Amino acid sequence: LQRLKQGLTKTSSKLTEGITGVFTKRKLDDDTLEELEDLLIQSDLGLAVSARVIAALKKARYNSDISPEEVRAILAAEVEKVLGPVAQPLEIDTSKKPYVVLMVGVNGTGKTTTIGKYAKQFTEQGLKVMLAAGDTFRAAAIEQLKVWGERTGAPVVSGAQGADAAGLAFDALTRAKKEGADLLIIDTAGRLQNKTGLMAELEKIIRVIRKVDPEAPHSVLLTLDATTGQNALSQVEIFGKTAGVTGLIMTKLDGTARGGILVAIAAKHGLPVHAIGVGESASDLQAFSAQDFARAIAG
Ligand code: GDP
Repeated sequence: LQRLKQGLTKTSSKLTEGITGVFTKRKLDDDTLEELEDLLIQSDLGLAVSARVIAALKKARYNSDISPEEVRAILAAEVEKVLGPVAQPLEIDTSKKPYVVLMVGVNGTGKTTTIGKYAKQFTEQGLKVMLAAGDTFRAAAIEQLKVWGERTGAPVVSGAQGADAAGLAFDALTRAKKEGADLLIIDTAGRLQNKTGLMAELEKIIRVIRKVDPEAPHSVLLTLDATTGQNALSQVEIFGKTAGVTGLIMTKLDGTARGGILVAIAAKHGLPVHAIGVGESASDLQAFSAQDFARAIAG
């Protein structure tokens, strides 16, 4: 929690300073509420959540004095209500042998790092984890995944740069089945410059692994970089349509002023948020807690 609070300092200080500015020695009336609504929208919380917070405040304390602390408490409570239903840890059904996770997202959003972090967590829980270097487009991505494999002891199935990603995923799943792996996590490319090509590749990977296991992938996880703010919203739409995203991971929540975007996404899409990234090292993937996040953001 301390780590999360620290990470979200930039997001929360913008909000708390703003709230103090608006409500010091002033009543909760239409003017202050309007100023607050602007502040919430600027903090990336989105129109719907901002309106909801304003309505809650109005209902609770219209035309009366209110302290900045009380405003923050009501803000935290409303944000928690929005986040509560989406806070769901990733559950691996080990009877699948293997449970197949397809990791998708724009380059640089933290796919490979998140795979490494999950590999560590699930290996430590005693699961037999295997990784597939499906971002065959970038040599660096293949190398980076191998490094995570070495760190965590998870075998990495990889091919040459430029190899067919779907073929590689097929081979990886075949091998994971044969070796009795509990969990296979497949990395993918994320070149948004060539959107059609990328989406065709993701569709092909899914089609091809279903030849080995008709239920695969069991989860399709989308990584979103919190620092990109509103862009993250459109990424959910783009990947949601093609890849059938089942859950989200928001990365780089450490040090960004734009952590509020997670709340907007939760309100708009209702997709499960499995975990959040609060740093670059293996232990910096936290289970997502609605209460902790809401409190951290409201300061
Ligand atoms: P990919 O291209 O989607 O596979 O993204 P990478 O996993 O290579 O991550 C891109 C960069 O973001 C790397 O330098 C990572 O170390 C960094 N990164 C990933 N997750 C986090 C996070 O939660 N916090 C911070 N600060 N950096 C992160």
